[in-house]
Formats: sequence, structure tokens, C-alpha cells
Amino acid sequence: MNANTPPVFRFAPSPNGALHLGHAYSALINYHMAQEMNGRFLLRIEDIDRVRCRPELEQDLLEDLEWLGLEWEEAPRKQSEHFADYRDALDTLICESLVYPSFMSRKQIRDSVASKNQVGIQWKDDPDGSPIYPGLEREWTETEHENERNKQPLHTLRLNMIAAIEMLNSSISFRETGSGPENETGICSAHPEKWGDLVLARSDTPTSYHLSVVVDDALQGVTHVVRGRDLFHATSVHRLLQELLGLPEPEYHHHDLILADDNRKLSKSAGDTSLRALRNAGLTPQDVKKLIGILS
Ligand code: GLU
Repeated sequence: MNANTPPVFRFAPSPNGALHLGHAYSALINYHMAQEMNGRFLLRIEDIDRVRCRPELEQDLLEDLEWLGLEWEEAPRKQSEHFADYRDALDTLICESLVYPSFMSRKQIRDSVASKNQVGIQWKDDPDGSPIYPGLEREWTETEHENERNKQPLHTLRLNMIAAIEMLNSSISFRETGSGPENETGICSAHPEKWGDLVLARSDTPTSYHLSVVVDDALQGVTHVVRGRDLFHATSVHRLLQELLGLPEPEYHHHDLILADDNRKLSKSAGDTSLRALRNAGLTPQDVKKLIGILS
């Protein structure tokens, strides 16, 4: 970061459900950190999932954030309007021969892992709890890929993780000013290998969360990524993609998650207390801030 340019923070919600207290916490932490450092606060709408993200939820989300008292610069960046940017990044990785098409369905993946487990092979999960991709298409020839693509137009583009790590030829790390699930803080080693050959794009969604987040953080000039601890391990992938794409490295701060009463992670789908429900029940923004332990 240049000493003369202000730090840039962002809050990046997905309009696929109602914002809850966890979102309010993350948005407010970002906002306060930006204010304390005389920085900028940007908003990004992460709506690449054209099935689950809906315009009315986006409208509600903007209203909820305004109600909380947040102000953001410029019109928010909407990912669905920038698929070409993600395609460019994907093309860069394709040109480096780091991407291959894969054809196994979710069920085929599950069955393949189950049969490995049955013969005593302990197949690993990625940090999100999904099995590492067991398919072998990374070893196929161009012609084999082409033939299968003709038979099965629906496929998934994956990063060849081993090739990507080999290409970098040096270890990567990131600077963490919050903490990870095992209290990791300071300079943390990145371990992208824990994710296996992750998805970069699908034939029906021409990008993925990981790819779009690194492209956007760079294009928006984000210097400080502040988000929930559940995304700590994703940072390893983000750092790898930044290195492969020649993008700048932001500083990271992973904060506590606001948990439900039974210690579950709050989720949009489980209908956990939404900001809207609290507001309709008569709570004020100050009440919400007190509930999540921000401000007095
Ligand atoms: N869109 C992600 C979410 O709603 C946040 C991504 C990020 O902050 O990197 O969980």
C-alpha cells in the first residue's frame, strides 16, 4: 500500500437471503476500521449465483445497511455485471495450462470417495468439509477432454493445484491482524494444497467465489480484507490466485463469528434472526449494535 493513498475496506454480502446479526457485525467492523484509519469503505454485491441471488433481496440488503447507519462510496460493484473480468482472469490461468475440465457429478464424487474409504483409503476433505476432487481428468490429453466435452457439455473447470503450486516455486503467506480458528495470527503460511483441485468456473456460472473475490479485491483497490473467521482457510486459495494472476496482496483480518444461542453458525437459510425481523420487532440500530457487542 502506498503511504499516501488511504486504506480501502469492503463489505461483500451475497443477496441470497436476509442479512442477519453476523452480517451486521462484519459490516460494522469494516466500517469502523475504515473510519479509524481514515480509509475508504466500499460495498460489493456478490451475486454470481444467478439462481439463488434475487434483486428484491439485494434491495432489502441495501436498506438494512442504510438503516444500520452505514455509508459507502460510489455505486456498489455488482459481480453479475463483471463476468468478463473473471473470464479474463480464467483465460490467464488457462493459458498457463493450470485449468482442466472435469466431468464427475456430485453423486459420482461421493460414490468414488465412498469406495476409496471402503478399501481403507482415508480420502481427505477440504477445509469446507467437501471431499478433495477424486477425478483424474487432470491427467487426460487435450483430445480426451475435447471428446468428453462433446459428450457432456455440462462440466466444471478446475485449478490443477499441484501444477499451480509448482509454478510458483516458493511458499506463500499472508499477514493476518485478526485470528484464524487455531488462533493463527501475524504472518501465516498459506496452504492452498488443502483444497485440492478447486472449482474456478462451471459451464452455467462462468466464475467461482474464489476467482471473483480476488479479481474484485484487486480491481477495487482493496487493501484490507476484513471478514468472518469461516473464510480464514479460503485466504490460502486467494493468496495463490493473487500470485498466479499477478494481483496485489491485501492485509487480512478474520473476526469472530456471531453464533446462534445453540452455538451454531448463523445462516441465512436456517431463518436465523434477520436484521429485518429485529427491526420489525421494534429494535433500533443502537440495540443491534449492543446485541453484537459493538459500541456501548
Ligand atoms: N460474499 C461472502 C459472504 O457473503 C463474503 C466474501 C468475502 O468477504 O470475501 O460470505
